[in-house]
Amino acid sequence: MRCADAGVVIVGGGQAGSRAAEALRLAEFRGSITLVGDEVHLPYERPQLSKELLLKEEAGPAYIRSREQWQELDVDVMTGVRVAGCDLERRVLGFEDGRERPFTKLLIATGTRARRLPDLEQGPIPVFYLRSVDDAVGLRASLREGLRVALIGGGVIGLEVAAAAVERGCAVTVIEAAPLVLAQVGSRLISEYFLKLHRDLGVRVLTEVTAQRVAPEGLVLSDGSICPADLVLVGIGVEPAVESVAGSGISTSKGIRVDRHGATECDGVYAAGDVAEQWNRCADRWMRVENWANAQNQAVSTAKSMLGQGEGYDSVPWFWSDQHKTNLQVVGSLSNVTEIVRGDSSCGRFSVLGLRDDEIVGAATVNAPKHMAILRRAVAARMRVNRADLENPEFDLKRLLSK
Ligand code: NAP
Repeated sequence: MRCADAGVVIVGGGQAGSRAAEALRLAEFRGSITLVGDEVHLPYERPQLSKELLLKEEAGPAYIRSREQWQELDVDVMTGVRVAGCDLERRVLGFEDGRERPFTKLLIATGTRARRLPDLEQGPIPVFYLRSVDDAVGLRASLREGLRVALIGGGVIGLEVAAAAVERGCAVTVIEAAPLVLAQVGSRLISEYFLKLHRDLGVRVLTEVTAQRVAPEGLVLSDGSICPADLVLVGIGVEPAVESVAGSGISTSKGIRVDRHGATECDGVYAAGDVAEQWNRCADRWMRVENWANAQNQAVSTAKSMLGQGEGYDSVPWFWSDQHKTNLQVVGSLSNVTEIVRGDSSCGRFSVLGLRDDEIVGAATVNAPKHMAILRRAVAARMRVNRADLENPEFDLKRLLSK
């Protein structure tokens, strides 16, 4: 039996919005669920956009569910619909096409959008961003042998696309403002390893430079040099997509701040995924966690909280990246830690463990997923460890879990 006044509306048809809708139904919520997305596609997985989708001509979106499966779940998925505003007093969302949708509870899962470099967009070289499946398909169609590709930003997008573009025979340059690539990981060893990996495989990586403007022959860089380019991809980070609720009374300064139950300061309004700013105990600060696992897990936890169930979410950030057949995984935080390295980076298989006051608060593994399975549990538990054990190459990491 459906209760007519118990509608949940979820704004944002990505990973977080979809998983929350599923979790509400799994938790036996009987009211109406509306999932509103501004893309024309049904919700799909994003990790493949900067990986397989760029390499496999026939690959299309990896849908989370088919239209029929959403119907079976009794979730009303609205695609191609943009939310224009939110009236919290009337408990109504307004769409750009003039329609309105009332809600009892609202979940904001609008994610992020790519930071842009509008000045470069005016030049004679096509400038791409990579956030949606349409962006990825458009980029894939352009990547051909011999194309000179300039990637601005040496983060995960820049480096994953660099790997794909090299595999497609392009001549690739990465332009990174910081002294290191993958600086966000927080480990110099990891950054240096990936810098060398890319350079060894033919990627030209420039650091401590930015692109100033576009000239007909390429990008003019901050050191005065020219980077020849036929195509530019900008991957310089993201910003929270909060305009649909701007002016509604929901505070949106660095994302939408939520407690461990995903609740905002406004009654009945929740947020989850990339857009949500949460307290992160690994980093000891409020932050948005921009990764697939967080979008998935925080959304499920928030859905339960919306129904008065569950104990709330305690995030331990974890993400992976595949570049040139090398798998990187990072858990927790490697900022301000003492690093212990296990394995040999020259063999392409090693782990970096981050200790703070003898507690393990972060780790990164390169081609060592089995170690990561152990380290995720150790970081989640903020396990106290004996440094000498970890420094001993004979010490089996599995013993951490038997304590
Ligand atoms: P990112 O990982 O934050 O990296 C952006 C990089 O660009 C940073 O190193 C940044 O340096 C640099 N940068 C900023 N402004 C620049 C400029 N003007 N010129 C040159 N470099 C500049 O962001 P992203 O690579 O764009 O990724 C976007 C989002 O997609 C993130 O949320 C990411 O988590 C997600 N994503 C995840 C995966 C994965 O998990 N495998 C894969 C693809 C995308 P500073 O830090 O010094 O500003």
